Amino acid sequence: MTTGMLFDIRRYAIHDGPGIRTTVFFKGCPLRCAWCHNPESQSPALELMLRPNRCISCGACAQVCPELAVQPVDGRYVTDRAACTVCGVCVEACYADARQIVGREYTVEEVMAVIERDRDFYLHSNGGVTFSGGEPLMQPDFLLGLLRACKTAGLHTALDTCGYAAWETFERALPYTDLLLYDLKLMDQAGHRQITGVPNRRILDNLHRLSALGATIWLRLPLIPGINDDAENLRATAAFVAALPNPAPLYLLPYHNSAEAKYAGLGLPFQLPGIQTPTDAHMHAIAEYFTRAGLNVVLGG
Ligand code: SF4
Ligand code: SF4
Repeated sequence: MTTGMLFDIRRYAIHDGPGIRTTVFFKGCPLRCAWCHNPESQSPALELMLRPNRCISCGACAQVCPELAVQPVDGRYVTDRAACTVCGVCVEACYADARQIVGREYTVEEVMAVIERDRDFYLHSNGGVTFSGGEPLMQPDFLLGLLRACKTAGLHTALDTCGYAAWETFERALPYTDLLLYDLKLMDQAGHRQITGVPNRRILDNLHRLSALGATIWLRLPLIPGINDDAENLRATAAFVAALPNPAPLYLLPYHNSAEAKYAGLGLPFQLPGIQTPTDAHMHAIAEYFTRAGLNVVLGG
């Protein structure tokens, strides 16, 4: 039985492709984008998420933890992540819902049972199912099982990808994928490595090959002030997209710094403190620049 690790299944999604959709979030990603708004998607393993603002300092977690990983310190209960085995016992004991295990192993059948609940919405809105993450292509057998099951069920499929995967993995998924939501981030090799942890050569090569094959692609560019909205990156992005074998719309997504609490809850450093959401005027100016460069631009989405 093929299983895979997810961190969420969101019903009634309207920003992950056409129509009303169910978005299935895979856990695990080969990139570590400094601006990632789903840091719980990065590790392929189960994680303990803490919500200190809900904690009522009752100490129940410390009482049940088999590893003695939770200890009282100055009236608060502090978790030693090095000692924590992510067993989940404290989550059950916490009445205040201040602790959560992120991630769950699913079978294809279990996911399809959730997807099937909203079949009527997909059909009436020209929607379907989107596989997102994290990076779905990091769990290729599970992804393929789900894609095949969706196509057998007559459902539209979208794959939201960072593009950093072996070409053979794309080739396996492509026959069952109606739409690719493909992220572009930074065109400069060294800068891309610095801000995401990997170079962009494979991502750009895969995109070019997919476009040459005639795949339906929506490009998505998250705009992060001071990171990728400079004139050189905009120029290089426009040139690359304009030179693709087949045109693809470019969706411009404004950065939001709403994930800071999630980083703290996972014990991860938040790398972009102080960066603000770009203004509407800035987003419109960038959209106008790409439009003048001949691209089909969509703001938001
Ligand atoms: S059980 Fe929950 S509410 Fe009580 S101390 Fe632990 S985290 Fe806080
Ligand atoms: S998840 Fe398990 S090991 Fe980790 S703090 Fe909770 S009870 Fe302790």
